[in-house]
Amino acid sequence: MREIDINSNDNTLFVTSQCNNRCLMCAQPPLDKDDIEFYFSRNLAAVSTAPKELTDIGITGGEPTLLGTKLFDLLQYIHEYLPQTLIHILTNGRAFADINYTQELAKCNYSNLLLGIPMHSDYSSDHDYITQVKGSYSETLKGLYHLAEIGISIELRIVINKINYLRLPRISKFIYKNLPFVDYISFMGLEDIGYSIKNHSQVWIDPVQYQNQLEEAVLDLATWGMNVSIFNLPHCLLKPTLHEYARKSISDWKTKYLPMCNNCDAKNICCGLFSTSKQQSAYIHSI
Ligand code: SF4
Repeated sequence: MREIDINSNDNTLFVTSQCNNRCLMCAQPPLDKDDIEFYFSRNLAAVSTAPKELTDIGITGGEPTLLGTKLFDLLQYIHEYLPQTLIHILTNGRAFADINYTQELAKCNYSNLLLGIPMHSDYSSDHDYITQVKGSYSETLKGLYHLAEIGISIELRIVINKINYLRLPRISKFIYKNLPFVDYISFMGLEDIGYSIKNHSQVWIDPVQYQNQLEEAVLDLATWGMNVSIFNLPHCLLKPTLHEYARKSISDWKTKYLPMCNNCDAKNICCGLFSTSKQQSAYIHSI
């Protein structure tokens, strides 16, 4: 990994390139490589030299739970070196369908842990189609309930794509009715890289085309008192009613602005664009 940098908004420990999902728009396509030990020792070294005042550290892959209980060893290590730091794990949550595994996490007893878990749809067939794993929806849902039982903070992530955008308002209703315990809900623009390029015609949609659905989904959740945000979508593509929910979310090292952004009144609060995306919206314009 890159050295941990206190001034960066993206300090992330990459723990494996393996994954048990094959999401159609995965930005970092998995590899079947036996790399867990390699990254584990590298990450311990990075943590041990990190500044103590670091506010956040991410854990990502691949799928971090493929480390098994070694993931909890890593959490313990981070907790010892960086007791004040928020640990944000990005996981598909399927491993927590196993109550024994969830109980192992519960023993860690961390208050500074947040799990970011993607829910691709309220409709199981769409979710399973996007992950390319039959049964993944049931496992992720079961995992969410088990995590709620042990009081872990959860961020639900909905990566918006051509397969799920029409159901965004239904996804919001589903979350409100069935997953009211989640702490954050993040609707996320697609990074057009990795499998998204390979599966472009299936997953890519210009963000301007789903503004009505996104507006309903976000405003409903906000009205119902849930903590909802929009990630990775620039202000000029969002309806004005959504601006207050948009976050500067793109990692600093992969953010780009276009020349027209220099004349834009929203530049200071806008997340900009993924420099890594192959395709950008055709509707970027200064405000
Ligand atoms: S023109 Fe650039 S700075 Fe302005 S809202 Fe669009 S992407 Fe953001």
